[in-house]
Amino acid sequence: MKGFAIRGLVVAAAIVLAWLGFTYQYSSLEIVEEAQGSAAIALIGARVIDGTDAAPIDDAILLIEDGRIAGIGPAGSVNIPDGATRIDMSGKTIMPGLINAHGHVTVDDNTQLPIRAHMDQRLAIYADYGVTTVISLGSHDEPDEVEGLKIRDEQRAGTLNGARFLTGGRNARGETEIDARASVAHLDDIGVDIIKYHINGGPNDMTPPVYGALVDEARARGLLTAVHIFNLVDAKGAIESGTNIIAHSVRDRDVDDELINEMIRLDVGYVPTLTRDLSVFIYENEPEFFEDPFFLRGEDVYATELALLRDPASQDAIRNDAGAQEIKIALDQAMRNLKILSDAGVTIAMGSDSGSSNDWGRWQGYFEHVEMEMMVEAGMSEMQVLLAATGNAAQIMNLDEIGTIEPGKWADLLVLNADPLIDIRNTREIDSVWIAGNRRAMTR
Ligand SMILES: [Zn+2]
Repeated sequence: MKGFAIRGLVVAAAIVLAWLGFTYQYSSLEIVEEAQGSAAIALIGARVIDGTDAAPIDDAILLIEDGRIAGIGPAGSVNIPDGATRIDMSGKTIMPGLINAHGHVTVDDNTQLPIRAHMDQRLAIYADYGVTTVISLGSHDEPDEVEGLKIRDEQRAGTLNGARFLTGGRNARGETEIDARASVAHLDDIGVDIIKYHINGGPNDMTPPVYGALVDEARARGLLTAVHIFNLVDAKGAIESGTNIIAHSVRDRDVDDELINEMIRLDVGYVPTLTRDLSVFIYENEPEFFEDPFFLRGEDVYATELALLRDPASQDAIRNDAGAQEIKIALDQAMRNLKILSDAGVTIAMGSDSGSSNDWGRWQGYFEHVEMEMMVEAGMSEMQVLLAATGNAAQIMNLDEIGTIEPGKWADLLVLNADPLIDIRNTREIDSVWIAGNRRAMTR
């Protein structure tokens, strides 16, 4: 019954927001499942960073009921019901679980596992590293498209063993406007959560009228669109067509006022995926993080790729690959553009492009932490980066039930032994991970 009451509140809030002038052009990506434990839990004494731009709450009480946040505030401001389980969290910092706005959970030629076991393993490792939601911007092939949609549906029905999973299925495309619309219609029919398409900056790209039709079809069906780009001119074209999310950095030149103004005017989200570019060249030598105990927590899952990347022949090939070397310059450009866009007030969301099929060394779980570290290196503040990885990522994906620690939201939490506002690398000091109010039994 309580679930209905909270749902009613959420609906009422949406009506009030609509009345205040917020327009809801796109339907929210739906996350519905039954909480597995219903007893109230009070987390007491932590510093809470809530995923909005509010100041942290010290000595907080965070109350969880039926898997959702039932109350949050400083000591004394939240009533703890009789019979609630009280957990002392003094000295800890609690933040929303990380949301990866651009990941992949796909087939992998290196895996020895059947597709479903492989995908479950990958969602588990994301969760173990504190990434409680991943939005897949692209299946690799039909088997992981089908299985991914099945996993998403099972999660909605109440089975949640790893990170929450939303998926774009295979990327939309078309030779003609009619093809492009048909591609989106098919993806909508099979039930994807978002439409992803590519403009690579090459001769085989869809023309603006064709991808314009693709985006138009998605919008008519209430589906968000995310685009892969590299060049500024293509980012502008995509935004002009109505695309909602720029899913990689602009990497050919400095972004300009025209782009910034349009992104703000049209509320377009920006997902830098800095580690995607890092992964293209960093394995020309053995990177230091191969010895990092936090990285090696994932060794059971990472082992096959790790062996491939430790091979001197592979490292040699990367050193001698002109494309890989050019990405170093592109990454510098990406970091510069991130700072410009963040300072200008564009909504930045964390996304790593981890798990992309058969691209080695994009570590699901570990790389989201490296991504955040690189965002700070690019010049964002720790608070801005934490927002990008939580509330902002939820916002650009229209996920209104996760991403912040506010009453009514799912209790997806990352509990840390150190404060990430002091050093972003403290997101690695994981005490526990909670999904829908359930403390995760860590598998590593
Ligand atoms: Zn990707």
